[in-house]
Amino acid sequence: MIDKYRIIQIEDYEKFVGAETIERIREKARPLQGLHVAHVNSTYYGGGVAELLSSLTLLMNSVGIKTGWRIVQGSPDFFSITKKMHNALQGGEINLTERKKQIYEEIIYENSIRKHLDHDVVIIHDPQPLPLINYYRKRGPWIWRCHVDLSNPNEELWDYLTNFVKKYDAVILSLKEYKQKLKTPQVFFLPAIDPFMIKNQDLTEKEIDERLEHHGIQTDLPLVVQISRFDHWKDPEGVIEAFKIARRQVDCTLVLLGNVATDDPEGEEIYEHLLKCREERIIILCHQDSALVNALQRRAAVVLQKSIREGFGLTVAEAMWKGTPVIGGNVGGIRYQIENGVNGFLVSSVEEAAERIVQIIKDKRLRKRMGQKARQTVMKKFLMIRLLEQYLDLFNSFEANFQLKSF
Ligand code: UDP
Repeated sequence: MIDKYRIIQIEDYEKFVGAETIERIREKARPLQGLHVAHVNSTYYGGGVAELLSSLTLLMNSVGIKTGWRIVQGSPDFFSITKKMHNALQGGEINLTERKKQIYEEIIYENSIRKHLDHDVVIIHDPQPLPLINYYRKRGPWIWRCHVDLSNPNEELWDYLTNFVKKYDAVILSLKEYKQKLKTPQVFFLPAIDPFMIKNQDLTEKEIDERLEHHGIQTDLPLVVQISRFDHWKDPEGVIEAFKIARRQVDCTLVLLGNVATDDPEGEEIYEHLLKCREERIIILCHQDSALVNALQRRAAVVLQKSIREGFGLTVAEAMWKGTPVIGGNVGGIRYQIENGVNGFLVSSVEEAAERIVQIIKDKRLRKRMGQKARQTVMKKFLMIRLLEQYLDLFNSFEANFQLKSF
């Protein structure tokens, strides 16, 4: 029975990155055999961090690093506070009361009792589990990996969180422009996608048809698609507005697919609110269905990711991998994936988004050219094996006293 299952090995990436890269990575993994590593975040599904960890933790195991994945448990109160923190780190307001700080720290203290983090390396993702470091004696380096757009964090919140951050041995951010004033060394890793997972695997036209039909999505008109958690930063309202403007010039159908992560209590309300905009040609769905994400990203004439803030935006790389041009908000990590006018378009307003939707739908050749460039970009820069190599480099750079050598 067990033989039926196998996890992806680095050799599986050879067809994308070549044998030399695989050999180099194997060499880098050699001194790390048996290293015990824990990743900690706050949800198993729904959102980019869970998506990344579900592949990265397996790939790390495949090269001999004993890598685990833990989730912090919390009450709705706790997740409501941490979502407010998430928003404030991306530049929103927060009323940071003593009560909020107490709930945040107490829940994480309780988690620390259950988690037994005695690993050689501990990697804490995002602000939710950040205070864990207060409650352990380190046996190896602790790394804070922050995925959010830190270009303009709320100062009061950042000052408070710095009390925890400064205890870490390294901080990983997605972009250099998110760098903060900290003594702790900061390194920069762009996220990446797993081309082998159900969401990104090749699909036949028939399989795509079946999946879309299963969800009642008509394909008689070109599809304009955005796939995102229901979150204001993803600007679903702006997408609907842009679609309505574009529709005056081209016939098309909009599909907004979203999900709600367990650590994001605002999603439900935003979804309910958006439902008021439903029409025959404005389809709004809330489902966790990876094959549907795949089918939509493949069949779409154009994918939007019209975010106002975006740490990275895995959905952009996912669609680009499938040869679909993406119109992205000109913010954060999206700018590192889309080269404007070459492999997609960057936009800063609803009107601009509408104009680009019309242009892409009308021009089949442009669509094809951009799509091909988009796929090449992901092949070169955004596959999981590159991220694995960066982690190996990082692990190899710690000295015995957990100091990070120049990186
Ligand atoms: N996602 C999904 N179903 C949905 C909406 C999103 O599977 O209905 C996935 C999406 O494919 C991507 C991740 O959730 O892999 C979102 O990551 P991203 O970095 O784009 O945004 P985040 O949610 O982390 O802000």
